[in-house]
Amino acid sequence: MFEVKDLSVSYGEIKAVRDVSFSVKDHEIVSLIGSNGAGKSTALRTISGILKGKKGSVKFDGKELLGFSPTKIVSLGVVQVPEGRQIFSKLTVKENLILGGYLVKEKKELKKRLERVYEQFPILKERQGQKAGKLSGGEQQMLAIGRALMSGAKLMLLDEPSLGLAPIVVKQVFKVIDDLNKQGVSILLVEQNVKEAMAISDRAYIMETGEIAMDGDSKVMAFDPRVKEIYLGGVS
Ligand code: ATP
Repeated sequence: MFEVKDLSVSYGEIKAVRDVSFSVKDHEIVSLIGSNGAGKSTALRTISGILKGKKGSVKFDGKELLGFSPTKIVSLGVVQVPEGRQIFSKLTVKENLILGGYLVKEKKELKKRLERVYEQFPILKERQGQKAGKLSGGEQQMLAIGRALMSGAKLMLLDEPSLGLAPIVVKQVFKVIDDLNKQGVSILLVEQNVKEAMAISDRAYIMETGEIAMDGDSKVMAFDPRVKEIYLGGVS
């Protein structure tokens, strides 16, 4: 169980996240939706320990994460897949994956995780010796997700995984997220592709100017006139 309570984060005078509360239960997919600048990335980066939260709490399996280093947070199983993938383009696919497992001490365990990622993404196995920069956008997204799996993610924080991808590839990425979830990984999904995100989510939160404006069952919210009007291209 993952729970964010009354979290506030500022950049100097700018209050980017204000008293935000949300949760992800074990095995859930939860979407965090909102327009540009709503504060979604700031919330994710604070949860991962990259930004320091000023106020509130972020608990995973009862442990307070706020104040922990990003490495410590990864070691507890909370792993972010950043916006824009941020893979190492000059390194090979395999090298990128191995880097994802940097906290794994045992060679045997590292090998086991690598095999699992290759099983999940056969294309990465095929391309393991290629420079990551040569992969297509969709393949790079698979690599970024594979790298998070190498870290032993129990809760994956995905920041706009479908950004800049062709519609058919977007579908594949959403299917991968759904599959991972079925295998037991809990997911917090930040997306602008609201329709697809809602379709695979259990619940959703809508963020507006740093605050949670609405939340609920995503299948119900997808039919809410306010959600339709703002995020799904008008009420029909
Ligand atoms: P997007 O979808 O565009 O990434 P977002 O919902 O993730 O938007 P954030 O990137 O978290 O929103 O931004 C929230 C607010 O904080 C915005 O007003 C933004 O201008 C501001 N902000 C974000 N990063 C910084 C920064 N490094 N320094 C100052 N202000 C920032």
